[in-house]
Amino acid sequence: MKVTLINYTPHPIETAFVAARTCYSADTPSNLWERSAADGEDKISPDRMHSLLDKVINSGHHSVLEHINFTFAIEGISRSCSHQLVRHRIASYSQQSQRYVKVASDAFVTPPTIAANPQAKKIFDDFIASVNRTYQKLLELGIPKEDARFVIPNAAKTNLVMTMNFRELYNVSQIRLCVRAQWEIRELFWKIKSELARHEELRGLADYLAPKCEILGYCPEHKSCGRYPTKEEVLGEK
Ligand SMILES: Cc1cc2nc3c(=O)[nH]c(=O)nc-3n(C[C@H](O)[C@H](O)[C@H](O)COP(=O)(O)OP(=O)(O)OC[C@H]3O[C@@H](n4cnc5c(N)ncnc54)[C@H](O)[C@@H]3O)c2cc1C
Repeated sequence: MKVTLINYTPHPIETAFVAARTCYSADTPSNLWERSAADGEDKISPDRMHSLLDKVINSGHHSVLEHINFTFAIEGISRSCSHQLVRHRIASYSQQSQRYVKVASDAFVTPPTIAANPQAKKIFDDFIASVNRTYQKLLELGIPKEDARFVIPNAAKTNLVMTMNFRELYNVSQIRLCVRAQWEIRELFWKIKSELARHEELRGLADYLAPKCEILGYCPEHKSCGRYPTKEEVLGEK
């Protein structure tokens, strides 16, 4: 799996700051923009911008975060993972088509539990070899790719481009960074977080991407992984 942040809103902190400040200021957004993005005597300090953003995030005034967009190139995840990903509706997706692109014979994800078990690995590899043979035979019989793909399993690799704003990224990360999330989508969101952290001006935003327990201070799941107590345990109801 490879995740690359290929584009994002320029001056992300300044953009969100101007959006937030506009709500509470008699000053115009264009003046606020001049003072936050441009260098000058009355430039608003980065600390002040980060501090307002922190207040906005902690208070739940999250519409402000929708002004920051990120576009990721996501490569080599399974169709099983992409199916979970695209359930998050507040984002834009462009995914490689199995109608137009032939599935490569080696483009399948092997789950770690299967890779670590020689007997399971043999069963899995034999199955993929049989899928490849069947898919190829159907194509040779003139069956179009859009129909031959019916034999392709969830393990098939896919590539996609995803644009998601920071509000949705903040929400989705809370669910998908949880150790109880399925391993592949969890890995995907850790890579997304690392991609943000790789860019100095985005590091502060990356810090907000965390599993829900870190934000709430308790585990909202039925059973905790052990990092945080459940809500019932906190309230002494268990
Ligand atoms: C552990 C886990 C197990 C799951 N198991 C299953 C399963 O077995 N079967 C299954 O079908 N799905 C399953 N899902 C997917 C899940 O039901 C959601 O479809 C998915 O997590 C998308 O999240 P979402 O709806 O919160 O938010 P998004 O689509 O990411 O939207 C973000 C937020 O916008 C708001 N929103 C978006 N659309 C609407 C709307 N139409 N109306 C009102 N508010 C809206 C909500 O507040 C929502 O939280 C699972 C998800 C997880 C994390």
